[in-house]
Amino acid sequence: MTIFSCSTCAIEHAQAPKPPESCAICEDERQWVPASGQSWTTRDELENQGYALNVHALETDLYAVTTTPKLGIGQRGLLVRTPGGNLLFEPPGFIDAAGARRIDELGGVAAIASSHPHLTGSSIQYSHRFGHAPVYVAKADEQWIRRPDPVIELWDGKAELLPGLWMYQCGGHFAGSSVVHWPAGQDGAGVLITGDTIAVGGDAKSANAMRSYVNNIPLPARAIERILDIVTPLEFSRLYSAFGVLREDAHATVQRSLRRYISWVEGRMPE
Ligand SMILES: [Zn+2]
Ligand SMILES: [Zn+2]
Repeated sequence: MTIFSCSTCAIEHAQAPKPPESCAICEDERQWVPASGQSWTTRDELENQGYALNVHALETDLYAVTTTPKLGIGQRGLLVRTPGGNLLFEPPGFIDAAGARRIDELGGVAAIASSHPHLTGSSIQYSHRFGHAPVYVAKADEQWIRRPDPVIELWDGKAELLPGLWMYQCGGHFAGSSVVHWPAGQDGAGVLITGDTIAVGGDAKSANAMRSYVNNIPLPARAIERILDIVTPLEFSRLYSAFGVLREDAHATVQRSLRRYISWVEGRMPE
């Protein structure tokens, strides 16, 4: 039995003697299957190809968890250190012994979560390596679970992942798309960790949200309003999306950008 991971999204699938026929994550209109067709890989194969896990500091108590070379969707995972244990957010689709030991040195992993199904990587392999830490999956996205396991904790609406570290369901990109509020982040100014629920623009000074980022499918105004309803009461000045960061004034930037977005999709902007 082998854990096969999709070569395009790097999401692990249930153990099986041979690879699945297709990857439902990539077949969905929000993702893509390469012209060359569906292909699969394994942890051993990636290790032989020279893949390695990297952990490096971003700010006090926050670390980036990535691979070299880039794997699958290629998000920058995060390790958030808190007095009540560490959160591993959106882990890569690969883990190796040296990288896991580095995470051990930083206090290990007490909880694992992702903003939505695209960025779950090898969550179950990480959980099994780190004492079977719970893997939080929004109930609304249960159908997208590719590797069922007893460590998965379904949640709905709002969940306290670790003492003082809350996850909020916003919907939008996926029905269960969510954000994590880390009030102690940026030395107490507050950090919002958004994955693909709120993306950072290429200009690094705006924010947006899409049903599909790669296929450019927008969201309706009501979905953007829902995201604003959830994040507006939260205090934060820095925002980490799956790929970008708004270093200062992130709260105001989210307000301004998402209001602009609503104006565009409602047809109230001059072309
Ligand atoms: Zn896939
Ligand atoms: Zn996504």
